[in-house]
Amino acid sequence: MSWEIERNRCLRCGACVSVCPELALDLKEDGVKNDAKKCTTCGICSKVCPPHAITVKK
Ligand code: SF4
Ligand code: SF4
Repeated sequence: MSWEIERNRCLRCGACVSVCPELALDLKEDGVKNDAKKCTTCGICSKVCPPHAITVKK
């Protein structure tokens, strides 16, 4: 299981943070942070990311 982000592609739009049902994402000054303790790798965040910056593997 993994959650990865390509930081250079992220637009900082916040869409992923808004849709995460586990509240596992946070938009910080240096980019989006994933809390691995909360993330279930459901993949919803990667589906809504406009530039496809997030890759989730089960
Ligand atoms: S994979 Fe699911 S639980 Fe994990 S950060 Fe994305 S939306 Fe949240
Ligand atoms: S949805 Fe994508 S572009 Fe928007 S903040 Fe999240 S990772 Fe960045």
